[in-house]
Amino acid sequence: MKTQSNNPLLLIKLLTLHSLLVLSASQDFDFFYFVQQWPGSFCDTKHGCCYPGTGKPASDFGIHGLWPNRNDGSYPSNCDSSNPFDASKISDLMSQMKSDWPTLSCPSSEGLTFWGHEWDKHGTCSETVLDQHGYFSTALSLKTQINLLQALESAGIHPNGSEYSLRSIRDAVKEASGYTPWIECNTDSSGNSQLYQIYLCVDSSGSGFVECPVFPTGSCGSSIEFPSF
Ligand code: 5GP
Ligand code: 5GP
Repeated sequence: MKTQSNNPLLLIKLLTLHSLLVLSASQDFDFFYFVQQWPGSFCDTKHGCCYPGTGKPASDFGIHGLWPNRNDGSYPSNCDSSNPFDASKISDLMSQMKSDWPTLSCPSSEGLTFWGHEWDKHGTCSETVLDQHGYFSTALSLKTQINLLQALESAGIHPNGSEYSLRSIRDAVKEASGYTPWIECNTDSSGNSQLYQIYLCVDSSGSGFVECPVFPTGSCGSSIEFPSF
């Protein structure tokens, strides 16, 4: 009897189709943005901020998120409502989460709402590569690989309310990390442009920084404020 597996061409076609389906189901993104926020700039807007119960976070950049993105600039979001954030899966990471991924929004909270939002919106879109524990531990580990505040301070850029050129900030991060960052600004309560977030790109398995295939859009103006916190 002639079975399907005796037909090599059909078998190859089926295998190709299968791997294409697996590939498209498992990964609908090309890289990650790893985004860190400057707390002074989150707070220094007309909305203000609130500190978590653990008190005022360190005067340092904090993680905002690890966001799967596509090379064409688009991105998937809220990919799997059947896999909601579950804090018990990252209980071993809690103390590092509180120090490196602090929440500053109001009303004051411990961070679970912020982390849950990031997992539900972004993390679920890379769940075939990083499960919940992997998603958060990868972000924490990336933060330890590049000290943004130290990178800026080594270049004479200090969080003291002074103004710096966008280029000097970008160059300082490139000098320290080896990769060109994207700088995002927001406006302080008087309407001045200030350094809000720094984006670096990470390969699609979350294993290390890469040059960004595409940058977000937006602009800072050429001179930007770096407020204290
Ligand atoms: P905003 O509109 O304030 O720039 O961004 C709001 C939120 O949309 C961000 O915090 C993030 O969750 C998401 N977002 C904005 N831009 C991008 C992007 O280029 N890539 C991805 N993956 N998410 C983005
Ligand atoms: P995204 O902009 O990532 O889509 O949304 C961020 C969400 O997390 C918003 O609902 C925001 O209120 C909340 N959030 C809680 N804490 C923080 C924080 O420290 N920084 C930012 N940017 N958003 C926070």
